Amino acid sequence: MKAEVFGVSRLRIGVDGEGVTTLVAFKYCPLKCEYCLNPGALLKDNQCRVHTPETLYSELRKDELYFLATGGGVTFGGGEPLLWSGFIREFRKVCGPDWKINLETSLNVPSAAVQELIPVADCWIIDIKDMDPGIYFRYTGKDNGKVLDNLRLLAGEGLAGRCVVRIPSIQGYNTPADVLRSEAVVRELGFEKIDKFKYDIDYAKRKRNL
Ligand code: SF4
Repeated sequence: MKAEVFGVSRLRIGVDGEGVTTLVAFKYCPLKCEYCLNPGALLKDNQCRVHTPETLYSELRKDELYFLATGGGVTFGGGEPLLWSGFIREFRKVCGPDWKINLETSLNVPSAAVQELIPVADCWIIDIKDMDPGIYFRYTGKDNGKVLDNLRLLAGEGLAGRCVVRIPSIQGYNTPADVLRSEAVVRELGFEKIDKFKYDIDYAKRKRNL
């Protein structure tokens, strides 16, 4: 089993999971966010490394002492890591139970991918964009029905406590009132760890030379 990885960022603290983490960014994403911060994930090019679970493990292992000392581990992002759910499941078998596995996801994927990762993920960091279908479509070009289905799936499995739901305020797309409405929807579903933040579109524009 192989996966395309376009970036690895080591020794991260407090940004995407407990303890010291290494972010592994996978290629490809089903969304087309207007201000995507990771355009490299969307391109069909050769700017990536192809890994097996074993080769990725041997690359990440140099930070194992930090992971074990701080309760950290690996954060799979992208792109959309749940497009590589089989790879991540295999990676868990290779790395064993002691590393944390965090997933940074939009949840806009088939529910089978979520189900496949329920047994292996310690933390789900979910960027819902906005729960209003019209706003979501304008910003990402996609319907958000799967997001809602998968939030219900995780809550139904009793995993809301392992999830952080991120709700960005995106200039030109949603208002503070929209953000509060999204928050109310996810709280109603049972999620309590909510991270509301202002999306830095100027940074995204600079990064993408817009
Ligand atoms: S979900 Fe993330 S990687 Fe995908 S298009 Fe949006 S910002 Fe880019």
